[in-house]
Amino acid sequence: MRPETSGRNRPACAPRLVGVPPADVTLPELALSTSVLDRRGDLRADPGLLPRLLADPATAVLRLVGDRVAVDEGREASTTAVLTAPEDADASRLALYLGEAGGRSYVGVVADDLTDAVADDPSWRTLRQVGADLDDLGASTFATTLALANWHRSHGHCPRCGSRTEPVLAGWIRRCPADGSEHYPRTDMAVIMAVVDADDRILLARGKGFRGNGMSVLAGFVEPGESLAAAVAREVAEEVGVRVTDVTYLGDQPWPFPSSLMLGFTARALGTDLRLQPDEIEAARWFSRDELTAALADGSVVVSGRISISRRIIEHWFGGPLDSPEIPLR
Ligand SMILES: [Zn+2]
Repeated sequence: MRPETSGRNRPACAPRLVGVPPADVTLPELALSTSVLDRRGDLRADPGLLPRLLADPATAVLRLVGDRVAVDEGREASTTAVLTAPEDADASRLALYLGEAGGRSYVGVVADDLTDAVADDPSWRTLRQVGADLDDLGASTFATTLALANWHRSHGHCPRCGSRTEPVLAGWIRRCPADGSEHYPRTDMAVIMAVVDADDRILLARGKGFRGNGMSVLAGFVEPGESLAAAVAREVAEEVGVRVTDVTYLGDQPWPFPSSLMLGFTARALGTDLRLQPDEIEAARWFSRDELTAALADGSVVVSGRISISRRIIEHWFGGPLDSPEIPLR
């Protein structure tokens, strides 16, 4: 069967958060954030589902090898993920039921046995490389397959008894054959926030391990028992010693590197004195729009690429696109 790409059968509409916060402060069209698959959780309990789909040439398979999938970058100014019919070898690979779109069923297959075969093939790309340009169906299938595969790869044993667990529910949980316990994929919530002072300057920081002159808004993981607003306030206080108020949601983005959900906010600083946490923050400073424009122009500051909510949050404050190269910060 001729390989097809994700540009076909794109569903017409996708869910959107509306009402709160006001639409004019949300970040529109964040990369990786448009869910176009109907996940059909009601079908997952059928143990015959994946064998049946993998025997059906109409099924669309996204093959993940390591952290890469094959993409087609030459179609109509949009990059699409290459989806193919199932092949015989898929029956012995980890398969993940992704759902339906446009009347078609989608399955992610983890094909790490092909690592050598695709090692030098430039059409196999990582989600970080192509995520900003992928169409919605490609981004949805790639992000979901990568996040689930990352979890399966690192959670192969039962946390209760140490036995090797088995994927069930079409790849959405793992079950321990020794004690019957079930284990669910984890998603690690992280808050990422613009901190803006009374003069409408934004705080950017360089974390330990950032490359070159990379700077970003602050971010950190939500801790157990903590609300999102409390996590924003704690992270800002810990990392730069600033108290904040008026924590306002901007948007969110799956970030399967390996398993995060980035929750974007803006917050108002109650002071401007900075006290940096030496283990995490190498540098931090306040920028006016003119100062940031100048720093980006002379290369003394670089921000992360278009795929990232970090850049989108900075652009939301800035009021338009930033002129900064597409290089990863870490
Ligand atoms: Zn167990």
